[in-house]
Amino acid sequence: MKIMKFGGTSVGKPERMHQVKELITRDNQKKIVVLSALSGTTNALVGIGDALASANKELAKERIDALHGHYQTFYKELLKTGAARIKAEKIIKEHFEFLNIILKISFNEAINRDILAQGELLSTKLFYTLLQELDVPAVFLPALDFMSIDENHEPELSKISDKVKVILANYPEDRIFVTQGYICKNHRNEVDNLKRGGSDYSASLIGAAISAEVVEIWTDIDGMHNNDPRVVDKTRPIAQMSFDEAAELAYFGAKILHPASIWPAQQYNIPVKLLNTMAPDAVGTTITAKELGVGVKALAAKDGITAIKIKSSRMLLAYGFLRKVFEVFEKYKTSIDMITTSEVAVSLTIDDISHLKEITAELEQYGTVEIDTNQTIISVVGNLIAESKGTVAKVMNCLEEYPLRMVSYGGSRHNVSILVDANFKNDALRSLNEGLFDWD
Ligand code: ASP
Ligand code: MG
Repeated sequence: MKIMKFGGTSVGKPERMHQVKELITRDNQKKIVVLSALSGTTNALVGIGDALASANKELAKERIDALHGHYQTFYKELLKTGAARIKAEKIIKEHFEFLNIILKISFNEAINRDILAQGELLSTKLFYTLLQELDVPAVFLPALDFMSIDENHEPELSKISDKVKVILANYPEDRIFVTQGYICKNHRNEVDNLKRGGSDYSASLIGAAISAEVVEIWTDIDGMHNNDPRVVDKTRPIAQMSFDEAAELAYFGAKILHPASIWPAQQYNIPVKLLNTMAPDAVGTTITAKELGVGVKALAAKDGITAIKIKSSRMLLAYGFLRKVFEVFEKYKTSIDMITTSEVAVSLTIDDISHLKEITAELEQYGTVEIDTNQTIISVVGNLIAESKGTVAKVMNCLEEYPLRMVSYGGSRHNVSILVDANFKNDALRSLNEGLFDWD
C-alpha cells in the first residue's frame, strides 16, 4: 500500500482537485490519500479564531462569511451533476453552520482547535464527493477515528497503527482510501492537530502505521531544491537524499516538507518521495536511508533566530554549568538550535522567543547575557561534510564578505551551520550557491 499526500495548493482549485483524482487513479495500487485543507483555508480559520479570541464577533462573522463564499464558488466549479452538488451544499452548510454556532457560545482553546479542523474536513469531503460523482470507488476514512496524540502532543504511533489496521481490514477489496491530514484527537478525546503544516506528518505517521511501500508528498514544486528559489536565480532539484540530510534541510528552512515528518518514515524505513502535481512525471526527490555521494547537496536558511550569549569567566569551566543553562530552556519548553562554546562564554540560538524575558532573567544568575535578534541560520547540508577535505574551506571562502556570528561544525556528518545577521542572508545564499555547486 502507498500513501499519497496532497498539500493545500494541490487541492486549492477545482481543476487541481480534478488533477488529484487523475493522479490517484493512474495505477491500481492500494493507497491512502491524505489531503490538506484548500490553500488559504487554515489561515482563514486561524483568523476566525483570532477574532473570537479577542472577542471581536463582528470580524469573526465577516471572516466566516468570506470563507463561506469561497466554498460556494468552489463546489460549483468542482462538481457538475445535481446529485453531487446537493451533497456538497449539505457538507458546506453543515460546516459553516458549525462555525456560525461558535459565534454564539463562549470561546476557548478546544473550540479553536475545532475551528482549525474544518479545513481538512471540508477538503476531504468535497474531494470524496468528486470521486463519487466520477464513479471512482473509494472509502472515506475519518482521521479522527484513528489519529491520536498523547498529553505531550506526541503521536501515539502504535495505537494509530492498531486502529488503522482494524479499519482497513473491513475493506479488503477497496483500493482508494481518503483521509485528512493535520487533524487528530488528543488525550482528552478533543479534536486537536499536528501543528501548522502537519499534513506531511500525518502522511508519514500513517505510512509508518501500515508499513507503506512509499509515502508520496505531492506539492507544487518538483522536489527538494539545492537552494531557496525565492532567493537565488538558479536552483536544481535533488534526486536522492538520505533521511538525515532531509531532516537537516526540512528543519533548517526548506519549506517543502514538515520537519517532524522524517522520523516515522526513517524509523520504519519507508521511502519518502517529493513529487510535483503540476509535473507528475518529473523525478522529484526520493528520500531513503541510503547515503549517496560526498559533499554539499543543498543549502537552507531559517529566519527569525535569536542568539543568546552567556558569559561567565567564573562558571563556564565548572562542571554542571551547561546543564544549568540548558535547564533554563527546558523549564520554558524552548528548544535550542545551535550551540557554540568558548572558555568563557556559550552562545546558543532559539527561534521561539515567547519566554525570552524569563529565560534571560534566569540566565543572568550565571553570567552576563547578550541577545542578538534578527539572525538567520544558514545550513549547508550534505554527506560527510566534515570528513571531505576542503569543503568547509570552500564554504568559508564564499562567506568571506560577511560577519559570521556563530559557526557550528562537526555536530553531525551532514551539516555545517552558520549564523549571520538576517541582512546578509540573501547575499550569503547567493554567494554559496555560486561557489559550492557546479553550474554548467
Ligand atoms: N492545513 C494545515 C495548515 O495549513 C495543515 C497542512 O496543510 O499541512 O497548516
Ligand atoms: Mg505543507
